[in-house]
Amino acid sequence: MKGPIEIVPGVYGLGSELVNWYLVVDDEGVTVIDAGLGGFAKTLDADLRRIGRTPADVTAVVLTHSDSDHTGVAPHLRAAGARVLIHSLDEPGLRKPGPKKGDASPRHLLPNLWRPATRRIFGHSIRTGAKPGKVDDAETFAGGDVLDVPGRPRVIHTPGHTFGHCALLFEEQNALFVGDALCMHPDLTRREGAGLMPRFFNEDDDAAQASLAAIEPVDAAVLLAGHGDPWRDGAAAAVASARR
Ligand SMILES: [Zn+2]
Repeated sequence: MKGPIEIVPGVYGLGSELVNWYLVVDDEGVTVIDAGLGGFAKTLDADLRRIGRTPADVTAVVLTHSDSDHTGVAPHLRAAGARVLIHSLDEPGLRKPGPKKGDASPRHLLPNLWRPATRRIFGHSIRTGAKPGKVDDAETFAGGDVLDVPGRPRVIHTPGHTFGHCALLFEEQNALFVGDALCMHPDLTRREGAGLMPRFFNEDDDAAQASLAAIEPVDAAVLLAGHGDPWRDGAAAAVASARR
């Protein structure tokens, strides 16, 4: 995805060939879902201008989790006046970025650095600009909350990739943002269709598997992931693909 590309009415995807971020535009304003890599700041103004917007038009940035490839431009949008929102369990990692925990801690990740998926995402991040977005005054939410930001997304807690990872359902737009609870990019999953992120990227890999049950029954025309193409075959089929 390069973008901005209108995926369904009012929903735009942007980013690079490996990392996505999204905008939801409605009468109330603009909500950004995830904030990509730090290097995306270089084209932030130009990207928004292409759909007739500026950073100051962004009302809120809602983050699916605190990984650095999802937080990059959050400080820039915060500085331009946007609210930044994240699950309470991932807020500390946004305030003070650091290594992941659990199954994705350096002890588990480092022996897997040679793997193609790891080299692909790390190489791409370094080339693009991997400085994590750091925000020290984000607002926090919990699973089940309906956020008072444009689009009124409902929060579905999907722990696993990180402990505070959440999917966000925009009912009006019929779009479910799954972050890294599902991955649609074959360079990362090493497979076709929807999959889970590699286990050494998941803070609790068992929880990541279990969280698929929270996504499975969701009614949405399109699933939008942090990595890979839009999925238009429904949540149940995406989860079935990931379980195979
Ligand atoms: Zn990611």
